[in-house]
Amino acid sequence: MALGNPWPTTASRGADGALSLGGVDVRTLAAEHGTPLYVIDEADMRGRATAFRDAFGEAFAGIGSECEVYYASKASLSARIAGWMAEDGLHMDVASLGELEIALAGGMPAARIGLHGNNKSDAELVRALEVGVGRIIVDSTMEITVLAALAARLGVVAPVMVRVTTGVHAGGHEYIATSHEDQKFGLSLASGAALEAMIECFEQPSLHLLGIHTHIGSQILGIDAFEESAERMLGLRAQFAEATGTWLEEIDLGGGYAIAYVEDDEELAPTRAAQAIAGVIGRIVAGAAVAMPRFSIEPGRAIAGPAGVTLYTVGVTKDVTLEDGGTRQYVAVDGGMSDHMRTITYGAEYTAALAARVSEAPGVQSRVVGKHCESGDIVVRDVQLPADTARGDLLVVPATGAYGRTMSNNYNALLRPAVVSVRKGETTVHIRRDRIEDLLALQQ
Ligand SMILES: *Cc1c(COP(=O)(O)O)cnc(C)c1O
Repeated sequence: MALGNPWPTTASRGADGALSLGGVDVRTLAAEHGTPLYVIDEADMRGRATAFRDAFGEAFAGIGSECEVYYASKASLSARIAGWMAEDGLHMDVASLGELEIALAGGMPAARIGLHGNNKSDAELVRALEVGVGRIIVDSTMEITVLAALAARLGVVAPVMVRVTTGVHAGGHEYIATSHEDQKFGLSLASGAALEAMIECFEQPSLHLLGIHTHIGSQILGIDAFEESAERMLGLRAQFAEATGTWLEEIDLGGGYAIAYVEDDEELAPTRAAQAIAGVIGRIVAGAAVAMPRFSIEPGRAIAGPAGVTLYTVGVTKDVTLEDGGTRQYVAVDGGMSDHMRTITYGAEYTAALAARVSEAPGVQSRVVGKHCESGDIVVRDVQLPADTARGDLLVVPATGAYGRTMSNNYNALLRPAVVSVRKGETTVHIRRDRIEDLLALQQ
């Protein structure tokens, strides 16, 4: 397994120790856009997107199939990102009306959009049908009835996939494992509910059943979970063919490819994953002598995560004496659990470093915290930071490109940070910082 690196590919330190990203000095970024600030290394993010496209495209071509990449937009979304993905030949997943509208505004063709969600509203389904999204992934038998009626009323045939829970349990945390039985997503393979739902879609004249979908979880390192899931999905496709005489066109294997959040974390490289998964599928399909389906995958964090960092300004620092007699340096920054949800939600690990300088001072046991009214408001639980870390220092937290801005909130009426991207010395604003006027404008 490859040892990962949480830093964007263009991150480098100048002679004075200041970090630059995409050729832009962090001091310039902080001065022009304020902190906290989300910074995306454009070359890195698009490089990861095209690496997935090419690795899976080539590996599946090798077994006489195809594999499209649907970027899971909930990881990191702006109209400009949707534009990048469209330009780079990717497809995109959305899971709400808001995500759908941003994807369309950025120029992602509707035909390349997949709509997800365990509880889609009528308004979301109608809008998706009106613009002509490429697929709607149905999550329940109730949704099949609702969608079939809406499509019939609009006089269209809705392209659908059925979301299947295969029972493969994988992923870093209970809340991001999504294919076991006792959770809200999908229809169970083991109980027969998935097959029944597929047959129901197949028989509805206003639905066109493209195939089946599964997403086993997130931050998955073990390739065997993906292989197992592919094998079960091929088995389900065969059961459906036995029942109906029809071989479904497509199987979507979801996302969940792991990234490095801290130095020495392991990551799942797209080439290795693509070859292993295609290998298993090739052997099964060739052995059964049936028509080869098309495939798709849905990486989110593996495209956006390592490409993004968050810049903060240090405020209060204090040393706290621990029970074992040691001390911990608390470094409070100008954001926290409003812009960085993954530590408090999943106990996720991150690292941090001074951004505008390097220090000769010894590293000391430190914790980066935010400015919210909760003791759980932690950005980085354990990290060595220089003992002379001081008010006004810029601090950078890498690997925050996924599930950062998209999970952010206005807790304590903080202003959500801007999102900018950097490339070859140029900075582009994707989403501007919230303003106090924005908060006041909502007050009635
Ligand atoms: C969240 C999600 C993904 C992406 O997961 P990552 O861990 O970011 O790769 C893909 N597909 C579905 C259906 C999801 O809900």
